[in-house]
Amino acid sequence: MSAPDTTTDIPDEVRARHTELCQELDDHSYRYYLGTPVISDAEYDTLMRELVGIEDSYPALVTQDSPTQKVGAPLSTDFAEVEHLVRMESLGNAFDVDELNAWADRTSAEVPVSGYLCELKIDGLAVDLVYERGRLVRAATRGDGRVGDDITLNVRTIAAVPERLDESVRPAPELLEVRGEVFLPVEDFGRLNERITASGEHTPFANPRNAAAGSLRQKDPRVTATRPLSMIVHGVGAYSPAKDGGEDVAFTSQSQAYRLLGEWGLPLSDRYKVVTTMDQVREYVSYYAAHRHEPAYEIDGIVVKVDDFALQRRLGSTSRVPRWAIAYKYPPEEVTTRLLDIKVGVGRTGRVTPYGVMEPVVVAGSEVEFATLHNAREVERKGVLVGDTVVLRKAGDVIPEIVAPVVDRRDGTERAFTMPEFCPECGTRLGQQKEGDVDLRCPNARSCPGQLRERLFFVASRKALDIEALGYVAATALTQPLEPAEPPLRDEGDLFDLTVDKLLPIRTYVLDPDTTEPKTDPKTGEPKVVSFFANKKGEPKKTVEKLFEQLEEAKSKPLWRVLVALSIRHVGPRAAEDLARHFRSMDAIREADEEELAAVDGIGPTIAASIREWFSVDWHAEIVRKWAAAGVRMEDEDDGSRPRHLEGVTVVVTGSLERFTRDGAKEAIAERGGRATASVSKKTGFVVVGDSPGSKYDKAVKLGVPVLDEEGFRVLLEAGPDAAAAMRINPEPEETES
Ligand code: NAD
Repeated sequence: MSAPDTTTDIPDEVRARHTELCQELDDHSYRYYLGTPVISDAEYDTLMRELVGIEDSYPALVTQDSPTQKVGAPLSTDFAEVEHLVRMESLGNAFDVDELNAWADRTSAEVPVSGYLCELKIDGLAVDLVYERGRLVRAATRGDGRVGDDITLNVRTIAAVPERLDESVRPAPELLEVRGEVFLPVEDFGRLNERITASGEHTPFANPRNAAAGSLRQKDPRVTATRPLSMIVHGVGAYSPAKDGGEDVAFTSQSQAYRLLGEWGLPLSDRYKVVTTMDQVREYVSYYAAHRHEPAYEIDGIVVKVDDFALQRRLGSTSRVPRWAIAYKYPPEEVTTRLLDIKVGVGRTGRVTPYGVMEPVVVAGSEVEFATLHNAREVERKGVLVGDTVVLRKAGDVIPEIVAPVVDRRDGTERAFTMPEFCPECGTRLGQQKEGDVDLRCPNARSCPGQLRERLFFVASRKALDIEALGYVAATALTQPLEPAEPPLRDEGDLFDLTVDKLLPIRTYVLDPDTTEPKTDPKTGEPKVVSFFANKKGEPKKTVEKLFEQLEEAKSKPLWRVLVALSIRHVGPRAAEDLARHFRSMDAIREADEEELAAVDGIGPTIAASIREWFSVDWHAEIVRKWAAAGVRMEDEDDGSRPRHLEGVTVVVTGSLERFTRDGAKEAIAERGGRATASVSKKTGFVVVGDSPGSKYDKAVKLGVPVLDEEGFRVLLEAGPDAAAAMRINPEPEETES
């Protein structure tokens, strides 16, 4: 059935929605190009898709003015208008591999494609540069694709943009129009935001793109000059070759054009790749999906271009996008959502932290409902109010962050957050540990049920004693039961003295593992209460047996894990390993004075002071005594069965190994006296690479550090550095003659 195509066939509500969407999208585009969007890119894309859907069903609604048919946004009045010599286009989008494949099928059905150029889609702003006889004469924004804003003076402040083309290889062309992306590198973005907040200039930028847009569109180029913008070029517009002084060069392909642009000193990406098959294109797409944060700038996808210019010309363009290119968009790392409430939580060190409770949203592939706001000063700095629409960001594995409020979406019902004066878990008055601290703490360290729950949960974490059966809900049941009135644990010192009899009477709320809020009974509306460790017959549940088994196993974990489990401030796995390697026993650590502790490789005065302070508290020392009495191993075995031939050797393990987990490999190194570290430097003894090793491998090769595969690692563990050196898989650096 063909779609109805006359204006009279269009239902009123469809027409109304169409008008509404067009207006909304135009409005959002305008704000976006100023660097002050009020919705996320993902929301924008969803609205755009809805509009495309309506226009597909009712083609009569498509006008030249529709956001589906045009590029960019209305121009601003702050700058003079300039007409581009060749129209600037947007890009078609693919949101999944099927859409990417469909684009490839369409193009190869029309022309014989033999090469694709894959490159990163930089999340910046499109800018057009015009060089006449090698001199930069104009720079402009994309505008509506035909006419842009003249931002020449601002672009001249960007160090990466040459004022004159380099003519050392070949003469500059008579005319060259190039386009590319202006962006703010991620590191500079962080620094810029810090500067802006410190000086109180204005609210921080939500992301590097908005910062770049805001910086480039400054009326005063001196302000732009203080913003470390950069640029990478990715396209050619108008071009006429040099009139004299050399061969008449023509552009024949995207990659050949890049070579020439590079020779003229224009800034190019070093990450583009020319490939011949769609399999290789998909490989490139998945590589950067996994390494999205490797480049110094933010990317929001991959751009795939048919390399050959003759084929590009044959494929041509629609009214707004080329048919010879496509942008594969990665899932958004930034979304907007409502901040429903700001609550406070107590951590294992007593720190009281505000956190946002949001309308759940999916970001970077996972659903997010909570995000920490660190401390009251941070809430103030970000300027977020309860009820705000907020920008939420989750980049890769990094924890979700509330970036900033969308001030323009306030309706007056929002309210400011005030930090409570009393601990929400035990009612003790909160205080600062030292004057001037931004953090508030609950001083009731031993008995605050919230702190104890968090410490217990931490004891059981994979970083510490790895007791899977003691999850968050079990830790809550053990520390905050409804019945009996006295919890079975006074503090974590009692953990290894638990008995089945102490567990069976425990009754507790049923907590939702995701929200950690009590679940309610749908019939009564009351919170559900259960016996946590006993079944209906009053017998121990399966989990009890598992818990005791795992507690037993935990007793023989290496010393560094026991140290981590004690929740000593600043003593994480890394410091704990250094301490364990040096002292070998808990007694030795307890007896060491601050100076001796601080002298250990990897331990400084702060950690040393924190350790001394921890042991000076009676109930802390009592935890160690009780654990030791219960049979927890307090010294690393040295029965001579393991050679300590890795003393003084640092090893970096990268990528996944077949026979070792990450922790297992670290332990094997530590047991032989070696040190497992995370980053490669000249001092690194060996880098062990497994599957998908990433940039550490490249760095090792560059520095000439010996690289071992898993077999080489086995030799290193069994026979030591000399034997392993013979198994390096990278060439030895050449000796330089003196
Ligand atoms: P686009 O950003 O999807 O793609 C086109 C642009 O990509 C080009 O103009 C070019 O400058 C840039 N680009 C980056 N790297 C490139 C490379 N290697 N090769 C070629 N081009 C490269 O499209 P658009 O028309 O610029 O903007 C539309 C998009 O912007 C939307 O999909 C949305 O994500 C976002 N947007 C958001 C809002 C908002 O309110 N949040 C409003 C308008 C637009």
